[in-house]
Amino acid sequence: RNVHVDLGSKSYDIVIDRGLLPHVGSRIKTLLPKTEKIAVITDSNVGPLYASLLQESLENAGFSVAMLTFTAGEASKNLQTLGTLYDGLAAAGLTRSDALIALGGGVTGDMGGLAAATFLRGISFIQIPTSLLATVDSSVGGKVAVDLSGGKNLVGAFYQPKAVFIDPDLLKTLPIRYLHDGLAEVIKYGCIMDKELFVMLEKIQSDEELLNHVDEIIEICCNIKARIVEHDEFDTGERMLLNFGHTLGHAVEKTFHFDRYSHGEGVGIGMVLLTRQSEELGLTERGTADRIAALLQKFQLPIAVDMRRDDFLQAIALDKKKRGSHLTLILLKEIGNSFLQNVAFHELTRYLP
Ligand code: NAD
Ligand code: ZN
Repeated sequence: RNVHVDLGSKSYDIVIDRGLLPHVGSRIKTLLPKTEKIAVITDSNVGPLYASLLQESLENAGFSVAMLTFTAGEASKNLQTLGTLYDGLAAAGLTRSDALIALGGGVTGDMGGLAAATFLRGISFIQIPTSLLATVDSSVGGKVAVDLSGGKNLVGAFYQPKAVFIDPDLLKTLPIRYLHDGLAEVIKYGCIMDKELFVMLEKIQSDEELLNHVDEIIEICCNIKARIVEHDEFDTGERMLLNFGHTLGHAVEKTFHFDRYSHGEGVGIGMVLLTRQSEELGLTERGTADRIAALLQKFQLPIAVDMRRDDFLQAIALDKKKRGSHLTLILLKEIGNSFLQNVAFHELTRYLP
């Protein structure tokens, strides 16, 4: 399975194959014939599981390898860890023709990507995403970043990888909560663009069945994201469709200090609550919110939250400075069909529960 992302001179392929990891060395050799050294950035959960397999594959292809590991978790996605990574890259003696691989979830990809974008003013970057969220979302599209204490992803860049290598077998070790977390984004893709995907998910009855179909699901989602990013690499228009459920979802995450609800859980709640409102306003086909809720619930994702309208307003207003007097909400006409709605702040309450 192969998804091409067409961005002119920055084009690249997403390769999706079970059992791919031991073969990436030779593929990278073909892709980057001048590269001698490769730094692999990974976290303390993923490293012990997969780093040695990757290292062996790279060494067999003739690369010398520097392995850099950081403590797993969003709390590491900051300038301090990034600084440690820069020091590791310098100590390994990487030059501008060398490359960096991010092996891990979205945290590793975002932070590794920012390191690659900035070290020596940019070295070749390769993504090997290992969480469902990273395979279907964060590894595609070139957004890389770290967090500040004042907010998430506040320091970053647009930096496209040279390739994305996805081995769906690696998802077998992903903790189930993260599998479901990533699935919320998959459900989002179905909602905004692909009714067929949504119906396919409705037919899946267990996590095991989900994992059996996951390569097909990843391919579908990467294709959707690739097409959107091709039209709007720098996120000024169509790419905003990917934010369906995110404005309310982010408010949920924030209200509970980012420790009660995961990102996917917040997005799931956001999709349901917003769609209930847009049904009331006559903008969305009746029954849509219930269908989304049923699908989320089947995979143990929450569909409601103990928050009032004022809590949402407050959490969203905190971002107001960043956004100005309007914000863009993503609404569904029906499953698989979404549109952008510009909403003035004083009208926002109509869209809140
Ligand atoms: P993560 O990288 O922290 O991974 C989740 C957890 O799963 C971690 O504990 C990790 O160690 C573990 N893990 C990952 N793969 C594993 C595997 N195969 N086996 C066992 N354990 C595994 O977080 P995430 O959920 O992958 O990604 C979230 C991050 O992605 C956030 O920082 C978010 O801002 C970012 N993100 C970025 C974009 C983008 O466009 N760049 C889009 C969405 C999200
Ligand atoms: Zn998201």
